[in-house]
Amino acid sequence: MEALLGIDVGTSSTKALLCSSRGEIIAETYSTYPLHAPRPGWNEQDPDLWWKGVVRAVRRVVRKAGVKKDNILGIGLAGQMHGSVFLDARQRVIRNAILWNDQRTEKQCREITRRAGGVDGLIAMVNNVALPGFTAPKILWLRDHEPRNYRRLARVLLPKDYVRFRMTGEFATDVSDASGTLLLDVKRRRWSRALLDLLEIDPALLPEVFESSEVTGGLAPRAADALGLKASTPVVAGAGDQPAGAIGTGVVRDGIVSATIGTSGVVFAHADTVVPNPDGVLQSFCHAVSGKWCVFGCMLAAGGSLQWLRKVLYRSDRRAFERMFAEAEGVPPGSLGLFFLPYLEGERCPHPDPAARACWIGLSSLHDRAAMTRAVLEGITFGMADQIEMMRRLGVKISQVRCGGGGARSRFWRQLQADVYEIRTVAVDTTNAAALGAALLAGAGTGVWRSVGQACKETIHTRDESRPRKKWAAFYAERHEIYRELYPTLKSSFRRLNSDY
Ligand code: ADP
Repeated sequence: MEALLGIDVGTSSTKALLCSSRGEIIAETYSTYPLHAPRPGWNEQDPDLWWKGVVRAVRRVVRKAGVKKDNILGIGLAGQMHGSVFLDARQRVIRNAILWNDQRTEKQCREITRRAGGVDGLIAMVNNVALPGFTAPKILWLRDHEPRNYRRLARVLLPKDYVRFRMTGEFATDVSDASGTLLLDVKRRRWSRALLDLLEIDPALLPEVFESSEVTGGLAPRAADALGLKASTPVVAGAGDQPAGAIGTGVVRDGIVSATIGTSGVVFAHADTVVPNPDGVLQSFCHAVSGKWCVFGCMLAAGGSLQWLRKVLYRSDRRAFERMFAEAEGVPPGSLGLFFLPYLEGERCPHPDPAARACWIGLSSLHDRAAMTRAVLEGITFGMADQIEMMRRLGVKISQVRCGGGGARSRFWRQLQADVYEIRTVAVDTTNAAALGAALLAGAGTGVWRSVGQACKETIHTRDESRPRKKWAAFYAERHEIYRELYPTLKSSFRRLNSDY
């Protein structure tokens, strides 16, 4: 049987997946590794851990699937975005990679914005604003704080591209992952010479940029031996984990959006043309579909809010989520006048505010645990709807929302989303969506499918459509209006409450 290999180099584990040339998943495995947090707000990883994780996961998945190495047609890479791997001229790792969730570069972000001539100048060059997790501020941090390491610096790679380097010996990346460095001219799909000049970053540090389904090289003999694969097996450019996950969910044409409720809540839209990003609250990147773009936002505590509620108000047994949903369904829509703001971890989108905090508003002696649970579900859904509305305002067309992540398991929540978004929702089974997306990119790049769009059309199936119900949609629209007034009212109190910010 012929197969495609997708690899997702995550933060807690690497996932490997083999799918057939019809897109059926033959086997999937993962291999875990630790995160290193040397100080509060710092998150690092030794790139060698990723390589070892990839070797273990790939060997396991090939064995589990019983596929012959000659029959693996191509390899696709996906991975945690924004992380920076620093290599010296002899291609050795200089220090631990600094990851997407590392907060140390606030000062460098301000410097980038200033050198770019302000937020508008930066957006004009790279279509996004400087966030501490992005790659460019990490390069400047190295310059400011570890000058000896900086002087040795010869290459900067993203996590999955370091794995590619170990596989093929080549320095390459793809447009979607490169968008998250803050150094890509997203509109023109190439490095921004203008910003590189302003930041005095040598373009020679950066890898060559490819479209996601383009082949960047073949497996080198030594890597092939380590992985138990055939030398010269083609490796495609792949994508960052968010865009790769969107491919694995079929978000590859205008009108289709995914709403993934895991710990965080990510709304991701495909776009035929580059999406303007006037206030920079969304990420507006190149998509992993050739010549297309995407836009996405992230609320920090979506499923995470429910997880927290389970811990504090329910017993954390395996059936607790079902009980929570059953209780919430028994409460009328609107939670008897109760609202929940889901800012347990501060917020990123739609309100970029680390000082924001969660709260129930409107509590009375009428309310019980069930009403509080329903209010949490409605609050998370309003937060997701805020992202959808921001996209609509930027001109993104939306005709179907694909629900993914743990939250998509509940039919009740998918219906609630349809009513609040006023858009049809469907479920897609997205376990390992990023690894599947990477495998589909490999298939598109090696001629199994004509294009990424074709790959998704033939392999990704949706189920269980929920349509918005007119009466409830109108009701929730009114509720949403009240919800939207609450954050601006509380904003300055949050700030005083958390004087650290
Ligand atoms: P992550 O990979 O980000 O940790 P998952 O995609 O596994 O998260 O989703 C976990 C979240 O899904 C939980 O926090 C919870 O909010 C939600 N969830 C878990 N089980 C269910 C269920 N049966 N129905 C609805 N939502 C659920």
